[in-house]
Amino acid sequence: MSHVFPPRVLPSLPIVDRDDRYSVSRIFCVGRNYAAHAAEMGDVVDREAPWYFMKSAFALADGGQTLPYPPGTENFHYEMELVVVLGDALFQADIAASEAAIYGYACGLDMTRRDRQQDGKDHRRPWDLGKDIEDGAVIAPITQRDALGALDGRRIELTVNGETKQKSTLDHMAWSCAEIISHLSRYYHLAPGDIIMTGTPAGVGPVVAGDIIRGEIDGLEPVTLTIGPPHT
Ligand code: MN
Repeated sequence: MSHVFPPRVLPSLPIVDRDDRYSVSRIFCVGRNYAAHAAEMGDVVDREAPWYFMKSAFALADGGQTLPYPPGTENFHYEMELVVVLGDALFQADIAASEAAIYGYACGLDMTRRDRQQDGKDHRRPWDLGKDIEDGAVIAPITQRDALGALDGRRIELTVNGETKQKSTLDHMAWSCAEIISHLSRYYHLAPGDIIMTGTPAGVGPVVAGDIIRGEIDGLEPVTLTIGPPHT
């Protein structure tokens, strides 16, 4: 098969203690998965079912970098999230099969143009400009599930320039990783390469050029990001 332009190579993530990387094809993101964050946005958690938006795999960026403040926003926000990474193909799966299909976890930043997301809400339009941002899915190296053990009530915390902005525990997630995967598998043929950003705790806020963001979950590699000057 030949192509008129060279096919783009899929983005990928590093894995702790491995030389191989994890190729990413889809990034699912869960909306409103912590009640306190839903409340700060003027919403409530949907109890009937989780719901989603997408980021392109080409939004992916490794942590530990300085990345430019993106164009098209004056209110660029951090959202610290647990990222769950799939290791098996899955369709219409129950909770046990969904749990077993988890390859690993990572710390991730769902970077957001909050003003463009609000435009979408105000006009009942999609959130793509608010959420699907080049270099807007910043994710640390993956820790394999068996090396981590149970997530339970691990701490999730984000600091900006050393000051704590978000702090919660993973047992505050309205929907667990296995519940999210099981639900998503009713709509998609999930497979290795599918990753899920599982929503953010309360305390989201804006950043400016020069800010240093650090996100931590107990037992995982932290994610860091320095905001650079805008693209020129
Ligand atoms: Mn988010």
